[in-house]
Amino acid sequence: MSPTRVPVVDGWFTAEGGEFRLLGTCCRDCGAVYFPREDAFCRAPGCSGTELAEVPLSRRGRVWSYTDGRYRPPAPYPSGPERTWRPYTLIAVELAAERMVVLGQGAPGVALADLAIGMEVEVVPGVLAEEDGRTLTTWHWRPVPEEGPAPDGRPAPGEAS
Ligand SMILES: [Zn+2]
Repeated sequence: MSPTRVPVVDGWFTAEGGEFRLLGTCCRDCGAVYFPREDAFCRAPGCSGTELAEVPLSRRGRVWSYTDGRYRPPAPYPSGPERTWRPYTLIAVELAAERMVVLGQGAPGVALADLAIGMEVEVVPGVLAEEDGRTLTTWHWRPVPEEGPAPDGRPAPGEAS
């Protein structure tokens, strides 16, 4: 029996329609976008908006910064010496359309040497941990293959630089 797949947080990403996307919210009054999602009220200065609509975030962005983690995180992260654990990369990705930076782990196999500031990356489904017969799912970032076709014909964010 395959383990049940459970999002590590509810409402932060979706694979509906076969396309994996991060989910944020957008203020109906001023257009500010929030991730993690803000559902109660807009935090933009001077905006009193309280209606925030769920919006899928851009699939691709550019590496704003990156580092790696080489020690086991403490609880409450799934940890403990009995678990398999590998160093991972942590990537901060700038989404041009949303004018924000979203953190996430690099996909398995993505090493520091594979990354550079300004490189285009895309969001992909990932696994945070396996526990109690469940697979906790999350998002990962990975470099966009250079020979890959353009995602949808739009110029990539930051193309002008
Ligand atoms: Zn607003």
